[in-house]
Order: sequence, then structure tokens, then C-alpha cells
Amino acid sequence: MCETGREKALLEVLRRGLELHGQKQTEAQLGDRSAYLGMSDIARYADCPRAAVAGKLAEADTTVERLLTLQRGHWFEDGIAGSLAAAGLSFMRQVEISDSYAGVPIRAHLDLALVWEKPKPAVRVLEIKSMETLPKEPYEAHERQVMGQVAMLDELWDAPRFTLRREDGSIAHEKVGFPELCRRELGLNLPDNPEKVSIEGWLLCVSMRYARAFGPYLWDAHALERLREQAHEYWALLSGVKEGRAALSDIPHATGFHPLCTSCQFNGDCPKFPQGASQPQWEPALDKLENLKERRSELDGEIKELEAVLKVAHQLAGTQDWINTGGHRFRVSEIAGRSVLNRDTLKEELAAIFYSEHMDDIDVDALLARHERAGAPSSRLTVNAIN
Ligand code: SF4
Repeated sequence: MCETGREKALLEVLRRGLELHGQKQTEAQLGDRSAYLGMSDIARYADCPRAAVAGKLAEADTTVERLLTLQRGHWFEDGIAGSLAAAGLSFMRQVEISDSYAGVPIRAHLDLALVWEKPKPAVRVLEIKSMETLPKEPYEAHERQVMGQVAMLDELWDAPRFTLRREDGSIAHEKVGFPELCRRELGLNLPDNPEKVSIEGWLLCVSMRYARAFGPYLWDAHALERLREQAHEYWALLSGVKEGRAALSDIPHATGFHPLCTSCQFNGDCPKFPQGASQPQWEPALDKLENLKERRSELDGEIKELEAVLKVAHQLAGTQDWINTGGHRFRVSEIAGRSVLNRDTLKEELAAIFYSEHMDDIDVDALLARHERAGAPSSRLTVNAIN
């Protein structure tokens, strides 16, 4: 659909507003992000050093799509904070924890820190992730982020490293210990020793329709040490590129399949994708393929929705028979689940039988492998957008 001049102008006003609003929010809550390494930066570094270094140096992406994605995160956070407040819970937003290791400034910002005193003093660190589609398993980078937050909270518990800002960015409490911050902000008394407090981290992933929680993530004795070492390496590489001692192409990149590569802003000249010949004549075919795949996923969604409606209609009709609609008929029937051979339990049982029959020289793994059949090799087309 082609936008008219006035439609384009309206969207540009929206884009500019989102950009300004986002800048203001970031400055108020996170300060100058180039002056320190945040927990999400370090988690990204563990995924791909090149993307993390490039991300710290690049200008912010100000397309409406990117700005909306960032804002969606803030809107979700506001909604979730409002819901928790309505449920009567005590919490603080964007508590900042500062650390420094070998001259590298490190900061964690806790999206939400829920605190209570009874029956046992407890803190729940919630890291909120807004997403288009919820994953079945949490992303490793998100887990690293929340584990790093828990490690910093636990290890720096009583140290004057905690700062809380008001919504406009002005300081409410600066550089105090966490129990002191809770006393001042929430009127709650927590022990000075974190071992007497139940501390857990949780990932709360939310989309427009669903929410999923992953956790708990607990204190790990070596997490802060690992995190500091990674931050040190990251800072050294970043300074090298900033000061012209190294180029982005010298920074190691993720290897093998990596889900981030498709959406990575720096995939255009990434050495992970060795460049072959340039054949621009295939661009229209790839565009068309991408469009067809998008339409297929839209159609899949519509088909699923309609099927769900018809299943409910059949259930409400209270019959096992076909329902006649004139030109079609439909009914719902139960289908048995797919049966799958459990290789592990079969292996255990065979090993037990061979043992009891004094045939334990038989290699059960080799026996099973002799009866496995590999499918014929096939070719797979991989298409990535160059961002
Ligand atoms: S494209 Fe993949 S490997 Fe290359 S910088 Fe981005 S995330 Fe790293």
C-alpha cells in the first residue's frame, strides 16, 4: 500500500516523537550508556563480541520499526509495574547497581525488584522482555543478564553501590547499600547479611497476547567473577577499536548457527558470511520468496484461529456426528498422539537383560546404531536479510 504525503508526514511525526521520548527516557534512567558496560551489553558480548563492540559504537537505529520495538518494552514494563502495584506488592523500578573492575565501569539496572520482609525476607529480581513470539526456552543471553543481576545484588548487597532515580532522572537515593535503599524507599527492614534473604532472579517474557516466566535464577559463586572478566575483555576490545588500534574485522564473531545473525544490525559485512559472487538478478526472486513465506505464516495463523473456532462450534453442538453446513460438513475427532521410541530406556532395559543373561560384553550403543537409518541427504536454502 502506497502512503500519501499526509500519511507519511503523520508517520514522521510519530517517528520523531518516539525518538525524542526514547532519548529522554534513556538519559533519565540509564545515563550515558557509552560510559559503562551494562548487563545486557555483557550478555550480548558472550553471544558475539563483534556485535557487542559494534553495537556500543554505532549510532542508534531510528527507524520507526526499531523505535516501536524499544518503546514496546517500556510500555510493557509500565503495565506490569501498574499490575504489581494493584496487587499490593512492594517494589522498586530501575535500581542501579554500580561496580568497577580493573578500571572497567559496570552497571546493572533491575527492571523491577520486588521486596518483602515476611514470612522470610526476600527479593525477586524481574527482568522483563517484550517479544513478538514467546520462546519455549529462555534465550541464553537473557539468562546471563538476570544471573549477572542476581550476582551483583548478592555480592554488593551492603556496599554503597545502589542508586535509585525518580522518573524524571533526578536522584532519589544515591550510593547506598541495598537494605538501606529498601528502608528509605519502601520502609522495609532487610538483614545486612544477604545469606538471610531469599534472592531469586526471574525472566518475565511478554508478547501482546501471552506471558511466560522462566526461573528462578539463583546466586552462583563464580558468576560475578566471570562477568567481570568478560567485561574486562570487552572493554579492552572496545577501547582498541575506539582508539584506532584495531578494526571491527579483528574482533571475534559468533560461529555456527546463531539466531541473532538474521536481525543483527552489523551482518552486512560480517566475516561470518564469506562473500561469493555478486548476482543482483536474483534479488527479486529472494524478495518474492520472503513475501511468500510471510504470507504463509499469516495464513497459518488465520487457519489455526478458524480451526479453533470450528472446534468450539462442534463441541457446543454436543454431537459426535458430522455437522452439515450445506456445501461442506465438519466434525472433531480424537487422534492418538504420535508414538516415539525412547532410546534411553530401551538401552537401559537391554543392558539389564544382557547383564542378567551374562552377555554384558554386548555393546548396546553399537547394537542400536546398527539398526538406525539415516535419511537421504537433502539440500537446504538459507536466506538472510542484509541489514
Ligand atoms: S551477523 Fe552474527 S556473527 Fe556477525 S556480528 Fe552479527 S551476530 Fe555476530
